[in-house]
Amino acid sequence: MSGGERILVAEDEPAIADAISYALTAEGYEVDTVGDGDAALASARQEAYDLMILDLLLPGTPGMDVCRLVRAESDVPIVVLTALDAEPDRVSGLDDGADDYVTKPFSMPELISRVRSHLRRRELDRSAALSVRSVGALTLDVARHTASVAGRPLLLTRSEFRLLALLASEPGKPFTREDLIRHLWDSDFVGDRRAIDVHVSNLRRKLEDDRRRPRRLVTVRGVGYKLVAT
Ligand code: CA
Repeated sequence: MSGGERILVAEDEPAIADAISYALTAEGYEVDTVGDGDAALASARQEAYDLMILDLLLPGTPGMDVCRLVRAESDVPIVVLTALDAEPDRVSGLDDGADDYVTKPFSMPELISRVRSHLRRRELDRSAALSVRSVGALTLDVARHTASVAGRPLLLTRSEFRLLALLASEPGKPFTREDLIRHLWDSDFVGDRRAIDVHVSNLRRKLEDDRRRPRRLVTVRGVGYKLVAT
């Protein structure tokens, strides 16, 4: 059972909203549900939620916009629900600041497992000791969740920061996608590998002078990725 964390569920299909709400409540979470994008935005702004589950296809303000607006104001973990036939490049919502996504139709244990791991990870992040780490021009403040390159602040999502912090823990060491997935979701539950590549691509856009010729976040062919001091 959980410690009564509060979760906002934005889903317009009543059967799905009810099923999610029922399952999360049974796990000990406090759940509020809303059925459109405007209510989702208003609730997220009014209340201090510990996590948000956001269907991307909502009436009113589109889910992607809700995601972006909430992320601009808060670091609450956002798990988006996306349709299997969504456009491939928009599949994840990760570009809009979501931490994770689950493709419909999903299994409830899978969704609960993701929720649990994001909440646990948020707890770990909060209790992390103050520590500032530098890798070349890149500086990470692990406690404050801030990062900069040559003094220029980077706007990173929670997942991007977490990936970067792992890579920065051992500069030059190649990490496999499995390492990154395990770290990102804090579980052996195997997430979608594409999510790692999306995060890496987003990180490069923010970290690199030329994202097509990455010098900091480098691909190690046949292995994964490593962070290089430069
Ligand atoms: Ca929907």
